[in-house]
Amino acid sequence: MIKEGYFIQGVVQGVGFRPFVYKMAHELNLKGFVKNSATGVSIEVQGQKEALELFQLYLSSRIPPLTRIDSITKTQLTPTNLQSFEIIQSDTAASSKSALVSPDIAICKECLQDVKNAGKYHNYFATNCTNCGPRYSIIQTVPYDRKQTSMSKFEMCSSCQEEYANPLNRRYHAQPISCNSCGPTLSQSIGKTAAFINNGKIVAIKGIGGFHIVCDASNHEVVLKLREFKNRPSKPFAIMCRDAEQVQEIATVNVKELELLTSKEAPIVILDKIQNAGIKLSAYVAPNINRIGCFLPYTALHHLLFKLLKNPIVATSANLGNEPIITDSETLMSKLPFVEFILDFDRDIINGVDDSLVQVIAGKKQTLRLARGYAPKVIKLPYKSEKKILAVGANAKNSVAFVIDDQIIISPHIGDLDSSKAFGFFERTIETFKNFYDFEPELIVHDKHPSYMSTKWAKTQGKKLVAVQHHLAHIYAAKAEFGLHGDYLGFSFDGTGYGEEKVNGEAREAALGQGTLWGGEVFVGDTRKYSFKTIKLLGGEKAIKEPRRVALSMLFEKYTLEMIMKLPLACVTAFSAEEIKILHQSYSKNLNAPLSSSVGRMFDAVASFANLLQFQSYEGEAGLICEQNYKPQITEAFEYKIVDGIIDIAFDFFDKEIVSKFINTLVNIVIEIAKTEKMEVILSGGVFQNKTLLELLIKEFEEEKVTYYVQEETAINDGGIALGQLYYYLSARNIIGI
Ligand SMILES: [Zn+2]
Ligand SMILES: [Zn+2]
Ligand SMILES: [Zn+2]
Repeated sequence: MIKEGYFIQGVVQGVGFRPFVYKMAHELNLKGFVKNSATGVSIEVQGQKEALELFQLYLSSRIPPLTRIDSITKTQLTPTNLQSFEIIQSDTAASSKSALVSPDIAICKECLQDVKNAGKYHNYFATNCTNCGPRYSIIQTVPYDRKQTSMSKFEMCSSCQEEYANPLNRRYHAQPISCNSCGPTLSQSIGKTAAFINNGKIVAIKGIGGFHIVCDASNHEVVLKLREFKNRPSKPFAIMCRDAEQVQEIATVNVKELELLTSKEAPIVILDKIQNAGIKLSAYVAPNINRIGCFLPYTALHHLLFKLLKNPIVATSANLGNEPIITDSETLMSKLPFVEFILDFDRDIINGVDDSLVQVIAGKKQTLRLARGYAPKVIKLPYKSEKKILAVGANAKNSVAFVIDDQIIISPHIGDLDSSKAFGFFERTIETFKNFYDFEPELIVHDKHPSYMSTKWAKTQGKKLVAVQHHLAHIYAAKAEFGLHGDYLGFSFDGTGYGEEKVNGEAREAALGQGTLWGGEVFVGDTRKYSFKTIKLLGGEKAIKEPRRVALSMLFEKYTLEMIMKLPLACVTAFSAEEIKILHQSYSKNLNAPLSSSVGRMFDAVASFANLLQFQSYEGEAGLICEQNYKPQITEAFEYKIVDGIIDIAFDFFDKEIVSKFINTLVNIVIEIAKTEKMEVILSGGVFQNKTLLELLIKEFEEEKVTYYVQEETAINDGGIALGQLYYYLSARNIIGI
């Protein structure tokens, strides 16, 4: 007889881990107990040697789907006289709260079957179990217990109570357990909702982390109407399809994409549209681009609805502009009065969380929005942080991150902080996490940009502050994901971020309008060694919305005003002669014309020269349009030179193949620098969301045997900045002892 003790850490509470241990112990005829503690799960098992060996093997190989084991500590104990195996009460003295909060998970196969079968879950819209259903979105605080969730107001019926209490049941301690007779109820029938959608109405439907605005994706008129109401001229809408087969009638789906679509996280996956698709979607769903974001039903409610729907549906987050997702029907009605019908239910959403957004590049996942299903996300460190640290991220696509002991925890996507709503959501999210983990930061890490709302907030907190340069934070986000230390060759290409420049050997921080906005930087270790030749952004922020301004600025570099007026280029004809004169003044006198080395802005200019677009209605539109106009048969590129670390591309603005040649040039530049520096490479920043560019680069890296890292599980765009800030601090602390 042998007795062993185990202590297990990771995502092990509220995910069916104790019943799993209980079942296993019974199968193997082991005695002892399993219990939750504040920091994990402890187990004592006693039995035959072979049985204990199997127990240990199964402990890591057969775990329930939502469990994630970070560490197992095993101890040998002295056998005692034990008769049974029990699940025993948690330690109540527990005061530290580091047991992790699980993300919200799509309905599992077993629950879907329960919804189909006769019984108390038949057609029940909120069916869930320990392997699926809401988590983060319904939790007030930890420990994760029904009375600390928005399910607290629903009293379990005797049948649910029985399931909840039975360790051999799939719903043992499933906190949101409920059924047709005891759980939340819908405000309207599913049949009526489906009829409204089928009849071309705009409908709001409550999901896990917020409301979706929904309409028939095949109906031109209603999709166009929705665009007008939302004041969203061209930013693509995501589509929810009945099942993977229906997605395949709209888009091509490879193995990895299928895996992601049908995964328990159920993100929106950006796919290539099929020309002449079997299902005719309205052209207004994703206008002017050949890609489309699709996702599958992830609650019983969605599945029940799709039994009655004729077509795939537009399912876009209910919000205005870049504001956070709306989680209650009162706000919905006041903010989005054009909604013609609301399907609500009475389980409150405590923490709003958007849909996650991913794409597949070269067979690997790329995360564009880390939210429902994936976040809160944990990255385990090989050491413990001495301080409790909060990183507040960028201004756009904001998320926050913090470190407790040896865990970095990344919040779900918060959004662009410019609206007061979004900023409120930012503050609320920080409060939520402080409350979850009894966390009070001793230090706050922030971006160097003084006008970022996150930076301003950090400065009012009265804590010790550390500022991290934006593009270095991008590189460190990748280092955090892959657990990298030491020096790498980091390519940090994005829209624009706050730079710094050395003037007379001293660092001078650049401000909008007088310094340089970075966005095309190459770091060797922490030192910026290469950067693109700067362009003046005419009108500052305005230039970001109008690619024609960036293009015109590049013409000013090369030609006289007189010559430019005669050029047959769309960026010229898109302005009046008077406007061009005024812009030329601001160019030559440096009035509201900050310098920028941004590769993102170069994509804008190229899209303008190619006459693909002169105005963009959402961030990254020019890049997306360039991507689809790339011609693989064009192998030529522009000449470029690198002098004193400044990369200068010799554009031919009149070249019909400017898009393809520009992308090829970027590839050549990255490869040349990688070969020169002979270091392992990191690629990060929003520009690398460009599938064409990244695929070409990966192909070259593999041919040239260059080791490279591209984020998969964390956001490669500004959504990853908070993580990078935190990891930069943690890494720097060890070197320079901040
Ligand atoms: Zn389930
Ligand atoms: Zn019930
Ligand atoms: Zn950035």
